[in-house]
Amino acid sequence: MKQVDIAVVGAGPAGLHAALMGAERGLDVLVIDNAGQAGGQLVKQTHKFFGSREQRAGTRGIHIADELTKKLSTYTKARLWLSSTVLSYYPADQTLMIEDDAESIRLIQAQRLIIATGASEKLLPFPGNDLPGVYGAGAVQTLMNVHGVKPGRKVLMVGAGNIGLIVSYQLLQSDVEVVAVVEAAPHIGGYAVHASKIRRMGVPIYTSHSVKAARGEQVLERAVIWQLDEQWNGIDSTQFELPCDVLCLAVGLSPLTELLWQAGCRMVFVPELGGHVPWHNGRGATSVPEVFVAGDAGGVEEASSAMATGALAGLSAVESLGQCPDYAEATGAWSRELDALRAGPAGSKIRKGLQSLQL
Ligand SMILES: Cc1cc2nc3c(=O)[nH]c(=O)nc-3n(C[C@H](O)[C@H](O)[C@H](O)COP(=O)(O)OP(=O)(O)OC[C@H]3O[C@@H](n4cnc5c(N)ncnc54)[C@H](O)[C@@H]3O)c2cc1C
Repeated sequence: MKQVDIAVVGAGPAGLHAALMGAERGLDVLVIDNAGQAGGQLVKQTHKFFGSREQRAGTRGIHIADELTKKLSTYTKARLWLSSTVLSYYPADQTLMIEDDAESIRLIQAQRLIIATGASEKLLPFPGNDLPGVYGAGAVQTLMNVHGVKPGRKVLMVGAGNIGLIVSYQLLQSDVEVVAVVEAAPHIGGYAVHASKIRRMGVPIYTSHSVKAARGEQVLERAVIWQLDEQWNGIDSTQFELPCDVLCLAVGLSPLTELLWQAGCRMVFVPELGGHVPWHNGRGATSVPEVFVAGDAGGVEEASSAMATGALAGLSAVESLGQCPDYAEATGAWSRELDALRAGPAGSKIRKGLQSLQL
């Protein structure tokens, strides 16, 4: 059994930032990710980030992933195990069981564990949702932006949050027709700038509409759409069909929390944060002293906030080992950045969710 100071599960923006905080302060850090490439969701994000210089505005997500991975590799005591899945965590002896792609099993004992496993996509229940052609938006982004494969010819996007709008724009850039975007809420959830771009390219956005059914013989051929009333019930008389061979669901994410449940962390149901999340103190500490959480696993937000919550969780883990003389200064800077990211109307949902944790 190998021993490390800090083990980080997940090499997305949160996990990489958490690991860097430990590595920069001379600790033995191991990052484990089941993907073949570090970066988590960043590897699909070929578009340029918005916001301020601190939030890496103007840089593409994929380049941020490369930059963070390169930086981590400069620390001799930091290691990155890719294509390796953490199957379980045993809190009694603080041990992780890890399987690599050769199916061999390794055990790691970690003084501190940071869980940065991200989130999984939500699906919608409707007849025909198991037809080939019905995808999550993450899968569509992976096909297009990681593997260079067009997912189909005519896409119906479900969800007008930022993910639905950005993936629609990327599909249009790849010369794939987007027949429409449908959104159950009465208003568009994503930034107006993204919505305007796709509208200018002729894509209609139907708010207060949803999918009634997907139809096709062997594969998806068309979708039945209907308008929703104020209680979000479908109105039969409004239904119409749209031809499509891809139905792309961008209807939200749920935190991936299995390891946090296994660790015995106190879990809380907070709809605004995506579902069940571990209680945490706003700097990554959970109810289990040696376990920390970062990024979407602690509440679904965005890549910029995942970097800040990752840094905070990393600093807190280092501090709990008595190795962080600059804790107050460093956490102060990252907390201010996080507050700025969560300010304004766009952050109101997250702020409400965090209030449920009584931060
Ligand atoms: C389709 C899509 C588009 C998006 N577009 C944007 C955008 O334009 N701008 C923006 O700011 N945000 C965007 N986001 C959100 C952003 O990508 C996430 O908020 C951010 O990546 C979260 O970072 P994270 O490190 O918490 O998790 P992730 O980036 O999801 O990384 C988690 C990592 O953990 C690994 N992992 C999970 N479980 C295990 C396990 N048991 N063992 C080993 N490894 C494991 C995963 O493989 C993954 O690599 C998008 C998200 C999606 C799904």
